[in-house]
Amino acid sequence: MAKTKKFLKLTFISLLAVVMLAACGTEKVEKANGGSSEGAKNALEAIKERDKIIFGVKHDTRLFGLKNPGTGEVEGFDIDIAKALAKEILGDESKVEFKEVTSKTRIPLLQKGDIDAIIATMTITEERKKEVDFTDVYFEAGQSLLVKKDSPIKGLEDIKKGTKVLSVKGSTSSQNIREKAPEATVLEFENYAEAFTALKSDQGDVLTTDNAILYGMADEDPSFHLVGGTFTDEPYGIAVKKGEKELLDELNKALKTIKSNGEYDKIYKKWINEDFSK
Ligand code: GLU
Repeated sequence: MAKTKKFLKLTFISLLAVVMLAACGTEKVEKANGGSSEGAKNALEAIKERDKIIFGVKHDTRLFGLKNPGTGEVEGFDIDIAKALAKEILGDESKVEFKEVTSKTRIPLLQKGDIDAIIATMTITEERKKEVDFTDVYFEAGQSLLVKKDSPIKGLEDIKKGTKVLSVKGSTSSQNIREKAPEATVLEFENYAEAFTALKSDQGDVLTTDNAILYGMADEDPSFHLVGGTFTDEPYGIAVKKGEKELLDELNKALKTIKSNGEYDKIYKKWINEDFSK
């Protein structure tokens, strides 16, 4: 009798183990299927299923995308536009996640699938269009120069042989300045915070990038100002992976809506000071 009991107990335990193993197996298969079918989905479908858009944004660019060390939140024009777009596409502005990109890392991170879209002071260029697709223009900037207020440099014509120009890796500014002032020495940094720190500590004579970014720096430290006006056109677009037409159309549709319902103007007024150019 005791033997039969023991046998029954053992059989029960074995059965339980088999059932548990089978359950684990099913779960694994389900996950793998989920993964592979996610791969087959287009970017917009994946966003809708996840109920969140992952934007690549700057963390070091005052006025556009700057991480507030006090709150840990990223703030700026690009950030507010991203939230407004999420509200249009997913019904709620909190349905966004922000991941840090720099000018150099933004396209590789998009290609890797870490982010759904780039909204990070990014100029639409023919060269970049070979790698990513861009939405319609959502901001117009132009390249300019930032110097100490007592600097002898008043414009592009004062950048000569031996002038040290600071710029950021992966930016159009860095490419453009080499064409416009081929004699100059161009020093490239990883991001705008590093480039501005270098200018402040006299590692260079002038910092060059979009006027919109330079205004943020001059605003932070009034011993610097912009000189020489703008010498390029830098129309900003939101970039998505090549071929993600559904996402691109949805972003363009949302941009149109926020431009027509006053949301875009509200964000523009909040961040972009019309007196900047003075
Ligand atoms: N808009 C320029 C660019 O896309 C300069 C700003 C930046 O580096 O993000 O390269």
